[in-house]
Amino acid sequence: MNVLLSAAISLDGCLDDTSSRRLILSPAEDLAEIDRLRAASDAILVGARTLRCDNPSLRVRSAALVEERKAAGRAPQPLKVTVTTRGELPSDLRFFEGDRPPVVFAAAPLPPQLAQRAETICAPEITAALIVTELEKRGVENLLVEGGGEILSMFLRENMADRLRLATAPFIVGEAGAPRFLRPGRYPFDSGHRAVTESLRMAGDMSVATYRFHDDDPVRDRECLARAVELSRRCTPDPECYRVGAVVVTASGARYEGYTQMTARKNHAEEEAVAAALQAGADLRGATVYSSVEPCSARSSKPESCSRLLLRLGVRKVVFGLYEPDRFVHCTGALDLRRAGVRTLYLPEFARQILDINAHLFSRPRH
Ligand SMILES: [Zn+2]
Repeated sequence: MNVLLSAAISLDGCLDDTSSRRLILSPAEDLAEIDRLRAASDAILVGARTLRCDNPSLRVRSAALVEERKAAGRAPQPLKVTVTTRGELPSDLRFFEGDRPPVVFAAAPLPPQLAQRAETICAPEITAALIVTELEKRGVENLLVEGGGEILSMFLRENMADRLRLATAPFIVGEAGAPRFLRPGRYPFDSGHRAVTESLRMAGDMSVATYRFHDDDPVRDRECLARAVELSRRCTPDPECYRVGAVVVTASGARYEGYTQMTARKNHAEEEAVAAALQAGADLRGATVYSSVEPCSARSSKPESCSRLLLRLGVRKVVFGLYEPDRFVHCTGALDLRRAGVRTLYLPEFARQILDINAHLFSRPRH
């Protein structure tokens, strides 16, 4: 998923002032750009506090952009998403208006009258890793995160943002209690791990900078995942397992390959590729693992799951093309890897092909 954070701040880093009226930071030119970003996204996320304070519609305003979405076969409006720890949201929020029920990530169950109007995803702790994983499973490929400060900080702290668009207005709020853009805490970016400033320009009187936080190589990622998918075809169909292929690329660029049951009946593809690498004396710290299907999180045949194996070996990045369906177990491999800080990418354009390769598990028996 592409995760784009968007924030507008004053020169002193404030998102708002302390008055009850919403502070207007953006001129029309910036608002028009935000509308284009909304139109390009599949889902828009804001925190519950922002909903309560500002009551935003989270809609694409331009009729022309809505028509463009429809012409491209997309929903007229992006999916609305929020996060609430207490499950308390006023029922008259504009967030609940529209054709599609919004998604609410909640640490506590919503009252029944709200639960009917939204899809609720309840978990004891709501993290950016959970939000990205659950929205990916619902088909979201482009997520726009519009605030507030706590939500933006959470995505940056967890290193779950791809880009930040930061618009700065040329004035100073100057109030001690005004909400700041980023909360204090540990972030993965310091003087030794700097983000990349991708662009810098003007929107009206605001300066707009875009920062990138990861150095993915999309061409290599697609090429290696395509190779993993091809390898999966070598596995003979077996009603007890998925046909999966895997490619390991070490930090120094050496490649190793495997597929399900390549050398032993209980072996998963990731284990086979890892074993090939270890036999050759490779160091897997900082490696990238491409697996056609999400690495497993629990299995009956062996004590160590593939996601645990990859964590133990110090793998830095995992790329896969299909979330494991809930057929044998409920898999949380991608979520577990993300929670442990592994860069984990899902490339949905491979999903159809991988499902076809695994048709032996999904087609009905003839008699
Ligand atoms: Zn596995």
